[in-house]
Amino acid sequence: MKILVINAGSSSLKYQLIDMDNETVLAKGLCERIGIDGHLKHTPLVGGKPEFNADVDLPTHSEAIAEVISKLTSDKYGVVYSMHEIDAVGHRVVHGGEKFASSVKIDDAVMAALEECTPFAPLHNPANITGINACRKVMGDVPMVAVFDTAFHQTMPGKAFMYAIPYEYYKNDGIRRYGFHGTSHRYVSKRCAELMGKPIEELKIVSCHMGNGSSIAAIDGGKCVDTSMGFTPLVGLPMGTRCGDLDTGVVQFIMNKYKISINEMLSILNKKSGVLGVSGVSSDFRDLDSAAAAGNERAQLALDMFHYWVAKVAGSYVAAMNGVDAIVFTAGVGENSKSSRAAIAEYFGYLGVKIDEEANSKRGEDIMISTPDSKVKVFVIPTNEELVIARDTKEICCK
Ligand code: AMP
Repeated sequence: MKILVINAGSSSLKYQLIDMDNETVLAKGLCERIGIDGHLKHTPLVGGKPEFNADVDLPTHSEAIAEVISKLTSDKYGVVYSMHEIDAVGHRVVHGGEKFASSVKIDDAVMAALEECTPFAPLHNPANITGINACRKVMGDVPMVAVFDTAFHQTMPGKAFMYAIPYEYYKNDGIRRYGFHGTSHRYVSKRCAELMGKPIEELKIVSCHMGNGSSIAAIDGGKCVDTSMGFTPLVGLPMGTRCGDLDTGVVQFIMNKYKISINEMLSILNKKSGVLGVSGVSSDFRDLDSAAAAGNERAQLALDMFHYWVAKVAGSYVAAMNGVDAIVFTAGVGENSKSSRAAIAEYFGYLGVKIDEEANSKRGEDIMISTPDSKVKVFVIPTNEELVIARDTKEICCK
């Protein structure tokens, strides 16, 4: 069974074609500048075919999907003979609100429900919906599945997802913590249980997704019981450019003093804050590491803040779960930065965590980086959201 995984943004579209018989990626690629001019990078990963990397006219997502199908099936760049070899399509959808606690087969009723979730993710969901519509138009009745970033967090209890504001805002408007990166947290926690050789139902796991966007999840018995992102992905940890948790009084103060609109304020909090805002150097942790090593104090402060926040939130989840068996690091920073992992793990001494420096220096593989006598196990697990989307799509379409 071959499954096409689509992650549609407002002007981009990422894809992977995965052979689910052995879970190998046959080809992957990225359409960019959709609606502007258009560029496609298509990389076949089997059959020794060359890469395609050039400008192509992509006025809408429909042309982008058609171009992807054309490349996947072409003599020169293709990995399948025809579109009919693609058995199903899995779509990443950012927000499923409270309507979707798991992945779902797409039909007209689901599309209507997705539209209703749009106010919760006004930048992301419309792009996801456009991608699905384009795919349905080009691929006809090929079965399609929506996989949500929020769904994994729907198991949170009320005490974790409610905000302490008048209850009507929850009841009438759905204002609550939703959480994001759910597909990643689900993948790495399941993989962690496999690596530990224990049923996930018996484990308490703190999953730290640390990339350009970062979030932590408390996963008790395989179910998410708390997570650091909230109604939007702006809060929780300080991130590449997002502020993380912030006293709302600061928003009022800055807006009044500098006479700026709410949109300008949100742009500052989303795009100019986080480790970029504090350091004034970069949102990229590699740049921060270099600048800090060269003596830049603000770069060091930004790194220190990030490590402190990860440790602080993770520690609060140990309290929330009344214990922890494993801590997992994933995503760009979590998978690649041994210095960030080591700095964060320093805070976990009270848990009896001991890091094996040699294991912590390895990259690109699932690995336990704690010593055998460490009371709590620590893992680095490269995330694979596309594979989760493909697995869910297979399961739902094969029912
Ligand atoms: P992601 O959002 O998961 O793609 O993560 C992207 C981020 O990972 C980049 O912005 C970098 O900050 C970080 N990153 C990638 N490679 C490294 C590395 N070798 N050391 C430190 N940070 C890294």
